[in-house]
Amino acid sequence: MRRRTGIVMDPWYLEHRTIEGHPESPRRLEAVYSLFDEPETKARFHFVPSKAVDKDALARIHSPEHIHRMARTADCELSMLTPDTPASAGSYRAALLAAGGFMETVSRVASGMLDNAMALVRPPGHHAERNRAMGFCLFNTIAIGAAFARMELGMERILIVDWDVHHGNGTQHAFEADPAYLYFSIHQYPLFPGTGLFQETGVGKGEGFTMNLPLPSGYSDGDYAVIFDKLLRLVALEFQPQIILVSAGFDTHFADPLGGMRMTSAGYAALTRILMEIADTCCNGRIAMVLEGGYHLGALKESVRAVLRELNEETASDPVSMAQEADPKRLGYAFSRCIHAHRPFWKCLEAL
Ligand code: ZN
Repeated sequence: MRRRTGIVMDPWYLEHRTIEGHPESPRRLEAVYSLFDEPETKARFHFVPSKAVDKDALARIHSPEHIHRMARTADCELSMLTPDTPASAGSYRAALLAAGGFMETVSRVASGMLDNAMALVRPPGHHAERNRAMGFCLFNTIAIGAAFARMELGMERILIVDWDVHHGNGTQHAFEADPAYLYFSIHQYPLFPGTGLFQETGVGKGEGFTMNLPLPSGYSDGDYAVIFDKLLRLVALEFQPQIILVSAGFDTHFADPLGGMRMTSAGYAALTRILMEIADTCCNGRIAMVLEGGYHLGALKESVRAVLRELNEETASDPVSMAQEADPKRLGYAFSRCIHAHRPFWKCLEAL
C-alpha cells in the first residue's frame, strides 16, 4: 500500500549561494527539484511548507553567539565562515528555513499526518557545531529536528542514522551525553572532519549511544546493506526508537567527487527499505530524512528519486539479495571493530 510521503521544497534554499566552483551549489537542488517537473511524480508526494525555525528550537543546539554571527551574514554579499564554508546574503534565511522545514516534517510524521518524509533542503547541517559553522553547514538541521522531537513532542528515544560519507561531528557532539538519542554514523575514514572513530561511543550517561563505523573507501551497496541489516537492525530493535531521523547524504555514491565509497542509487533504496522495516517494527513506520551531502548532480538526483520511490512504496527493494554481493573481508573489519567497541553496551551484540 502506498505511504504518505512528505517533501519539503522551497526556492529559498537556492538563495544560499556559495563561491564559483564550490561543490555545494544551488545546482544540487535544482537537479533534485527537476524530479518534480513530471506531473506524475509530483502527484505522488505531499508538499510540506517550509517555515523559519523559531529561536527556542535553534537555541537548543546553538549558542547565542553563533546564532548572532550567522544572522550578521545576511548583511554581506559574501562571508567566509571557514575556508570551505561560504555564506551569501540569503544563506541565513535559507538555513533557518532548512531547520524549520525539517522540523515541520518531523511534526507531521510524529502526528501521523504523514507516514514518512524527506526535507530537500540546503545548506546541509551535520557538521555545524554548537558554536561554529563548519564543512558547508551553518545550523545543524538534523540535531534541531531531533531536539524538537525530544523536547516538544515528548519522544524519549530517537534514532539518528547518518549515511553521509562524512562523519556528522556536530550531531554527535550535540547528543553524545544523552541516552535519549542513539546516533549511528557510517562514514569514510580518514576523511573530513577526522572524527567518528570506533571508540567514540558516547559520554557519561550517553555511553553506548554513539555508534561510529569509520571505514576505508570502497564499501559497496552489498556491504552497506549487510551492516544495516545485521548490525544497525539489532541495535535499533533493542533501543526501540519512537522515530527514525536520517542524515541522508549521497556522497557515498561511486560517482561522487568528494567520497571514495561505491554505493549506487539502488543501494540507497535498499538502506531505506531496511530502515522502513525497523520503523514498522518499532514506531509505525515513522521516518524523517534530511538531505546532507551529495555532489555529483546526476547521481544525487537519481539517488533521491530511488529513496523517495522506496519511501512511497512505489518500489520494494530486496536488501537480502543485495547482501549477497557483500565482501566478507570488508564486512569482517566493520563488524569486528564495531562489536568490540559496543559489546559492553548492547545485549544483542554479546552473542556476536
Ligand atoms: Zn558529506
